[in-house]
Amino acid sequence: MRHRIAVIGGGPAGLTFARVLHRHDHPVTVLERDPAPDARPPGGTLDLHERMGQLALDKAGLLAEFQALSRPEGQAMRILDADGTVLRDWQPRPGDLANPEIDRGQLRDLLLGPLDVRWGRGVTEVVPGTRDGVLVRFADGRQETFDLVVGADGAWSRVRPALSSATPHYTGITMVETSLDDVDTRHPDLARLIGDGSMAVYGVNRNLVAQRNSGGHVKVYAQFRAPLDWHTNLDRRAGLDLDDAEDVRSSLLALFDGWAAPVLDLLRHGTAFVHRPLYVLPVPHTWSHVPGVTLLGDAAHLMPPLGVGANLAMLEGAELAESVAAAPGPADLDEAVRAFEEQMCARAGRWAKITTAGLERLVSPDPTQALALFDEVQPS
Ligand SMILES: Cc1cc2nc3c(=O)[nH]c(=O)nc-3n(C[C@H](O)[C@H](O)[C@H](O)COP(=O)(O)OP(=O)(O)OC[C@H]3O[C@@H](n4cnc5c(N)ncnc54)[C@H](O)[C@@H]3O)c2cc1C
Repeated sequence: MRHRIAVIGGGPAGLTFARVLHRHDHPVTVLERDPAPDARPPGGTLDLHERMGQLALDKAGLLAEFQALSRPEGQAMRILDADGTVLRDWQPRPGDLANPEIDRGQLRDLLLGPLDVRWGRGVTEVVPGTRDGVLVRFADGRQETFDLVVGADGAWSRVRPALSSATPHYTGITMVETSLDDVDTRHPDLARLIGDGSMAVYGVNRNLVAQRNSGGHVKVYAQFRAPLDWHTNLDRRAGLDLDDAEDVRSSLLALFDGWAAPVLDLLRHGTAFVHRPLYVLPVPHTWSHVPGVTLLGDAAHLMPPLGVGANLAMLEGAELAESVAAAPGPADLDEAVRAFEEQMCARAGRWAKITTAGLERLVSPDPTQALALFDEVQPS
């Protein structure tokens, strides 16, 4: 029996779900709010773990293509002191494919492949339990019904209210992202400082992380503890214009004042700045099962960005797709979704605790906590 299935959101969770169903010859409708795949910058690089993101790609039949695209050398990790002293310098061993990096845009295109995504279809509401199934309402006024609606629509999910009243809350830690292009030719000293993978500097309640993407593109993240409205009540004057790159740059340079000049060059040479306050969902986030609707990825368990969110999202997408494809009738479909939710919520809850504790150590009053965390998790 072919169930009428829709997935809301074409991020790592939704596309992996759809691609694995596609591999099982099961039709699926992918509904994405963005008007086109490249409607906005795709974001920084992702490291896909062997037993999570890579396992999901294997279930989609895409592991070999991933290996051809990904950057194993991107697993390199260097930690500097605020004065520029190199404290740690981990390099991957030859043939190490545990956590290779891939640009988000490359991953999206890999997953998209033959999928027929309906772009520009923002969902506003999902209503379970109607006579014809689960009703999906769109921003343009249209509506459609399905047997199963999968909410893979990220942190501010419009599907989640059909299951749960939880909403994300601010962690007390915010992030400003900037980037550098053609780093090897334009900023060769910075290129050497960053190396092939990531470079990080941890200070008191703040850190700076630079991550190499493909093609000489580098993403820089400044993380710090601050109230959500920190930019409106700075001491120096009434407020900061987050859309004014020079204003944000000088504010960040003041915040990281005293750090080594080459480290601050990451901010000096950054182009646009994007403010990304870190929000999370309650831990654990669970709900009473509602027939016909479920969640995947950030919509289900938004957690601090410590290298797990996309991996879990993809693994969940692949697992749910396999269960759904194997369910012959409506009762089996509902049982498959219920069992999936139980397993997903338990596993995500464990990771949410780990990443929440990790974030506290990475943006800590005691910067040695960050180093100690890396010493625990990096292969020796
Ligand atoms: C700075 C940063 C770095 C990170 N680094 C890593 C990392 O290295 N490794 C890792 O595993 N994770 C990382 N993460 C976490 C990771 O980005 C997320 O966990 C992951 O993207 C979640 O995937 P998703 O598909 O659930 O949601 P999303 O990626 O948010 O995708 C949701 C999709 O749904 C669409 N959508 C939203 N609302 C609607 C709507 N109403 N109707 C239709 N479509 C809608 C959106 O346009 C989007 O395409 C990082 C996060 C941040 C912020």
